[in-house]
Amino acid sequence: MKDVRMPPPGITAIIPCYNEIACVERAYQEIQAELSKYDDAELLFVDDGSTDGTLEAIKGFAAVDPRVKYISFARNFGLEAAFSAGFKYASKAWTVQFDADLQSPPREMHRLVAKAMEGYDVVFAVRENRQDAWYRKLGTWAHQTIAQRWLGIELPQGASVFRIVRTSVARKVVDSKLSTPYFIATAPLLGARYTTLPTAHQPRVDGTGKWNLRKLFTHAVELFVGFSFRPLTWLVGLAGVAWAGGIAIAALALAGRVTPLAVDLAALLTALVTLVLLAVVARYLVRVMRVQAIGMPRYQIREANIPIRADEALYGHETPYVVAEVWENVS
Ligand code: UDP
Ligand code: MG
Repeated sequence: MKDVRMPPPGITAIIPCYNEIACVERAYQEIQAELSKYDDAELLFVDDGSTDGTLEAIKGFAAVDPRVKYISFARNFGLEAAFSAGFKYASKAWTVQFDADLQSPPREMHRLVAKAMEGYDVVFAVRENRQDAWYRKLGTWAHQTIAQRWLGIELPQGASVFRIVRTSVARKVVDSKLSTPYFIATAPLLGARYTTLPTAHQPRVDGTGKWNLRKLFTHAVELFVGFSFRPLTWLVGLAGVAWAGGIAIAALALAGRVTPLAVDLAALLTALVTLVLLAVVARYLVRVMRVQAIGMPRYQIREANIPIRADEALYGHETPYVVAEVWENVS
């Protein structure tokens, strides 16, 4: 840590967990061991509606370790919601996001901290030798490349969810009223100073991954339509080409210069372009509807051992441990 130019900061470790009973104990042990190298630190577990005893395990850690805080969602709201809540309720100046499966080794956090202290708001870890299935690696590369090169969306290439963020900036990102919550694209949009750092990566220590191809695809499409209008522009251009091609084929058919099969194929191609255009327009409409529904909170918290805003607590002021007034001081 020789590059550190500031005193060690206060750090909140956020650990989103969804059915991680196989890993959560080891995650607690390893993360708390690294955090104990800092004077001012806390662990904030966000239980994303687990049904396998993960929450009970977390409560066990909290019972013996006062640095352990937790929030438990009323159902599974997804990783994005889980880390958004983590950033919102983190009480230290800096927040480091971990995975419960320890794929990004907690010992690497010190390098992220040191890099951040050089003057960044966010330092994203980029996994060296990423230990995931080939289609995951290809998927990340493809959708980030399309987003950056073709759609003009600024984001840190290869960024993973292992990252350190200045907590005030993280809250700005999660509070920004965008229809699509997508942290790595929103942080640059707000002007956050960010960089990337290669870090080690390892296979899941236990349990199973929560992503399937459908989720990955939806996530990529969210990025494309949430941060760019270019997909529409491109498709309208393509529709124009199909239209001109159709007219040309029709003229050639009238002159008896092309076969009926060529006419049929041209009609089919034009219909396909129209269908894709319709599907993309529908995605943008969904986006508009989401913006209208933005008043609805992204998650609801069933219980916690820290003060929670009443509007984010399923039982309002009756939520166990909730002291809504204290929120004013926390934020
Ligand atoms: N996770 C979560 N909610 C979900 C899915 C995942 O909080 O709906 C958590 C999960 O428990 C883990 C982290 O997000 O701590 C990363 O999940 P996973 O290992 O499945 O993702 P991958 O490493 O395959 O990208
Ligand atoms: Mg994982």
